Amino acid sequence: MKLTEDPHRRLNALTNEWVLVSPHRATRPWQGEVAPIPSAKEPAYDPTCYLCPGNTRAGGIQNPAYSSTFIFENDFAALKPGVAHSRLDVDGMGLLVAESEPGICRLICFSPRHDLTLATMSLDQIDLVVDTWAGQFRELGSLADINHVQIFENRGAMMGASNPHPHCQIWATASIPEAPSKELIAQRSYLNSHTRCLLCDYVALEIRQKARMVSENDGFVALVPFWAVWPFEILVCARRHFGSMNEFSAHEAHCLSDILQRVTAAYDKVFGVPFPYSMGFHQSPTDGAHHPECHFHAHFYPPLLRSATIRKHMVGFEMLGTPQRDITPEIAAERLRELAKASD
Ligand SMILES: [Zn+2]
Ligand SMILES: [Zn+2]
Ligand SMILES: [Zn+2]
Repeated sequence: MKLTEDPHRRLNALTNEWVLVSPHRATRPWQGEVAPIPSAKEPAYDPTCYLCPGNTRAGGIQNPAYSSTFIFENDFAALKPGVAHSRLDVDGMGLLVAESEPGICRLICFSPRHDLTLATMSLDQIDLVVDTWAGQFRELGSLADINHVQIFENRGAMMGASNPHPHCQIWATASIPEAPSKELIAQRSYLNSHTRCLLCDYVALEIRQKARMVSENDGFVALVPFWAVWPFEILVCARRHFGSMNEFSAHEAHCLSDILQRVTAAYDKVFGVPFPYSMGFHQSPTDGAHHPECHFHAHFYPPLLRSATIRKHMVGFEMLGTPQRDITPEIAAERLRELAKASD
């Protein structure tokens, strides 16, 4: 089988799901690129932004004049704490089933500056963000009815982020959400059958093969996973085996800032516009159990395909069958690697 020419499907070892790859249909995605749309430069402070220091949010609460990161409970939270545990199963048939889901939603502003992004913030500023994430993970994870802490960033209007002010969300829940739950099952099963960690083995293999590597430092590697679904998807993976931000060293925390800056800066160069994405960390559940199978990592899922405006849609066969891609992960990695190198 020629992975560069023949249609094939690849297994996502982290989820046990497949992705269809059709390299014969691919034109290099950055060929046919349209001229980037000049994006309006954001001001350092926007009086209409509900996240800028001193401004009033929709709920009527005024933000403090914060000077580094700023954390608050989401005013329109999807989850709320203290919901009593209950389960519904109509007639015990397993067909109409519901469970209560206590949880906490917070928002973290990365900076008082409205116009910055992870790609344009200084490493010192990103270090403060990583510190804040680690503190929130520790605090929320230690709560009795919180068993999973999901930190994620939606960037860009294309991803539904209504506000360009640099920020992320944390949704801390009683249950372990679907995506990490699937990955934990695969990681546990690999550990049981190989007595080694799935991602430790996978990263070693990718470092040997080189074809999908994008960037690396002492603590982390960034690569386009073999099974990537999104055109420029990236997996950021810790080199050392540990499960969460509770376990990384100060140096590793700084290495995380560095790799995030490298990845987001390379992204912004792909089509010459701020690259939209959803990114988030997968960490050990905070359910009090031991999770030797869990290896700290982050996923970047950017939607852009061929230009600043042409995005991948998950429709048709992808929605009803299996996700599919044309350009191979190796070609996407080659492009991102060049752009990451150019930033050094
Ligand atoms: Zn703002
Ligand atoms: Zn590992
Ligand atoms: Zn994951």
